[in-house]
Amino acid sequence: MNEAFNVRSIVLAVHKAIVSNVDELTALDTAIGDGDHGLNMKRGMDAVLAEVDELAAMPIHEALGAAGKRLVMTVGGASGPLMATFLIVLGRELEGSKPETAFFAAVDAVAKRGRAHQGAKTLLDVLFPIAHALKLKQNGMDLVQVARDAAVATIPLQASKGRAAYLGARSIGHMDPGARSVWLIADAVSNLMGKN
Ligand code: ADP
Ligand code: MG
Repeated sequence: MNEAFNVRSIVLAVHKAIVSNVDELTALDTAIGDGDHGLNMKRGMDAVLAEVDELAAMPIHEALGAAGKRLVMTVGGASGPLMATFLIVLGRELEGSKPETAFFAAVDAVAKRGRAHQGAKTLLDVLFPIAHALKLKQNGMDLVQVARDAAVATIPLQASKGRAAYLGARSIGHMDPGARSVWLIADAVSNLMGKN
C-alpha cells in the first residue's frame, strides 16, 4: 500500500470513474434492462462523496460499512443493495481476516443476497474472477485485465438473473451493466494501488 491509497482518494477515484461513464452504463442498461443503472450508480456515488470527510476520518473497514449503508439508502435498483452488501461484508470481514479472504466472503454474500451464481450475466461475473485472482496472488497479476476480460466475457452470455433475464436470448450480445460498473471500479482502485 502507499500514500495515494486511502479512503478519500478511493471515494474520489470511484466517483469520477462512475460519473464520467454514466452514459455508457445507461446505454448498457437500456439495451438489456430498464436504463437506470448509470443514474443509480451516480446517485449512490454522489451520496458517498457528500460524506467523504466523515468517511475519511474512519478506519477503512468502518468507512466501507458506512459507504454501504449510504448506497442502501440512496440506490433504488437491484445494484444498490448488492453493492452495499459487498461493502458492508468486506468492511466487517477485513477486521479479522486477510484482505483476499474478506473479499471472497463479500462476493459470496452478494451471491447469496441476489440468489445468483457466476455465469448468470451479473456483476458477480466480474467480482468472482477478481476474488479468485486475489486469492491466487499470481505474480504480476493484472487486476485491471482480469476485470476487463471478465466483463467482456458477459457479452455472449444469456442472462438468468435480474431484469435482463426477462429478455431470454435477446440478452445475448451486450455487456452486463453491473459487470461494467465493477470493471470501472476495479480499474479506478487498481490505479490508485499502483501509484506511488
Ligand atoms: P435494476 O436491475 O433494478 O434496474 P440496476 O439497473 O441498477 O438495477 O442494476 C442492474 C445490474 O444489477 C445488472 O446489470 C446486474 O449486474 C445486477 N443484478 C441484478 N440482479 C442481480 C442478482 N440477482 N444478482 C446479482 N446481480 C444482479
Ligand atoms: Mg436497471
